[in-house]
Amino acid sequence: MCDICVINSVKDRMLSRRAFFASAAAATAGAAALATGATTPAMAAGHGGVVDMTHVLDADFPTYFGVPGFEATQAFNFKESGFNLFNLAINEHTGTHIDAPLHFSADGQSVDEIPVSNLVCPLAVIDIAAKAAENADAQVTPDDIKAWTDANGPIPDGACIAMHSGWAPKVGSEGFRNVGADEAMHFPGFHVEAAKMLMEDTGAVALAVDTLSLDHGPSADFATHYAWLPTNRYGIENLTGLDKVPAAGATLVVGAPNHRGGSGGPARIFAMV
Ligand SMILES: [Zn+2]
Repeated sequence: MCDICVINSVKDRMLSRRAFFASAAAATAGAAALATGATTPAMAAGHGGVVDMTHVLDADFPTYFGVPGFEATQAFNFKESGFNLFNLAINEHTGTHIDAPLHFSADGQSVDEIPVSNLVCPLAVIDIAAKAAENADAQVTPDDIKAWTDANGPIPDGACIAMHSGWAPKVGSEGFRNVGADEAMHFPGFHVEAAKMLMEDTGAVALAVDTLSLDHGPSADFATHYAWLPTNRYGIENLTGLDKVPAAGATLVVGAPNHRGGSGGPARIFAMV
């Protein structure tokens, strides 16, 4: 179907939906509300606001491999065609994105196979910004997790555990990748023992970091990736907004992509606070 045909067909469907709702009897209003997803008051009742946890993605966004991971090519422009449309070329692990279990396993869940129930998560924020300011290679350790549970209680089932290292504001600078004289990158991540503790002692489903990798920058063995992802838990990298959410009590909504067989991909992520 041509692009203009798609637009016309969508318009037709919108018009017929409007006609349907205009003529619907009041008795069906409840069912119609359910059908359009207007069930959010239950969530709104428990949360006062929403925080965007997603960096804007463009061709300049720093990547693990140091080469551009995103390219947008304009295929149609408004002046000539009456509408704008871009073709995208994206490395899955660019910008604020998901690491699906398949990223570091032979047969783990691909991004389209992550259960949606795992994509709406109680958010636990572990703040290591003070030690990360002293040491770029800082890691979330079992002691950091214990300090969180001492202050906030047990890690909730289905939680996403996020490292707040203070790295997000560096995204427009060389300091985000932070390549040293040793040619290794230097940024914080999760220590593998912290990941194992969460796997053994909690029902957490996701790790999130505000840096380029679940493992800290100098890691050569990706121990945390290899421990966490093959258990069909997933990861989030390059998260932002962690300074705007509480240590406990927020709900993370992870808008993961669902391209078939994908190892991950850019996601739009919100926190209900
Ligand atoms: Zn990734």
